[in-house]
Amino acid sequence: MQALSIRQLTKVYSNGVEALKGVDLDVREGDFFALLGPNGAGKTTLIGIVTSLVNKTAGEVRIFGLDLEREQAAAKACLGVVPQEINLNHFDRLDNILVNQAGFYGITAREARKRAQESLEQMQLWDRREEIARNLSGGMKRRLMIARALVHRPRLLILDEPTAGVDIEIRRSMWGFLTDINAAGTTIILTTHYLEEAESLCRHVAIIDQGLIVEHDQMATVIRKLHREIFILNTIEPLNDLPPLDGFRAELLSEHELQVEVTAGQDLNAVFGLLSAADVHVSSMRNKSNRLEEVFFRLTDRTSEQEFEVGRGR
Ligand code: ADP
Repeated sequence: MQALSIRQLTKVYSNGVEALKGVDLDVREGDFFALLGPNGAGKTTLIGIVTSLVNKTAGEVRIFGLDLEREQAAAKACLGVVPQEINLNHFDRLDNILVNQAGFYGITAREARKRAQESLEQMQLWDRREEIARNLSGGMKRRLMIARALVHRPRLLILDEPTAGVDIEIRRSMWGFLTDINAAGTTIILTTHYLEEAESLCRHVAIIDQGLIVEHDQMATVIRKLHREIFILNTIEPLNDLPPLDGFRAELLSEHELQVEVTAGQDLNAVFGLLSAADVHVSSMRNKSNRLEEVFFRLTDRTSEQEFEVGRGR
């Protein structure tokens, strides 16, 4: 069963901006899924359409098989949403916030109180239930928003940049909570621009850029691609066969062009050593950038280097 299935989704804003240009996306039930992309890529628009805050221009969205247009109430009941901005009623008590939210889904008062307790306990906020939201720390407010999104027991939880601007300790504790929620059976989709976050949590990932999905795969596969650099070497002598380049994936593109893949931890010097040993001389070299790498180069321009470290320094 697909928790979310999107077909040919387009969005053209009234100012003519084409924010989504025919997006196809599938998220399996039980998955922990990351939607990555640079600013302006279309993530918020996509999430906005799925959560009925933004009207689509064309295309189809199904939540657990339910058409979001024709079966909106049933589809929305399957969905819990944690928005990017903190949008709590700051003067309301925690327990009231949750009971009221449950009320929006037609849950009886008695059942709502039971579920409010369950959600607050799950997010370790039960002992603060009588306090008003304003008294909570930033990390607790984010947890409260998750508890609120869970109170009607949605099968799919969508979080838009859940850890944007929060410090690393809060971020890591949020990861723990989200992992538990997912392990208990809730499908989770999150948007993030922290690669490390996506890598730690998610089994599948889609990368959106300029309104199009440019990558949609298992996290491990995408990370492998990110850890790889491809070089094109031009040789002085014409080559008939691939020179021995043990340990490297290499390909002869033409008589004078050799393509070599260097993965993280491999040494480019070794490539030259092996080529020299085979009496092959390199006149020039260039990077072969693929689309995915371009996306991430652009991303790294927009965030600090530390935020974008992939799988290192943890
Ligand atoms: P992301 O969440 O990935 O940063 P958005 O979905 O916010 O991307 O934006 C995608 C594109 O749509 C951007 O070019 C943005 O400027 C544009 N956009 C977003 N919201 C609106 C809006 N309400 N009106 C017009 N253009 C918008």
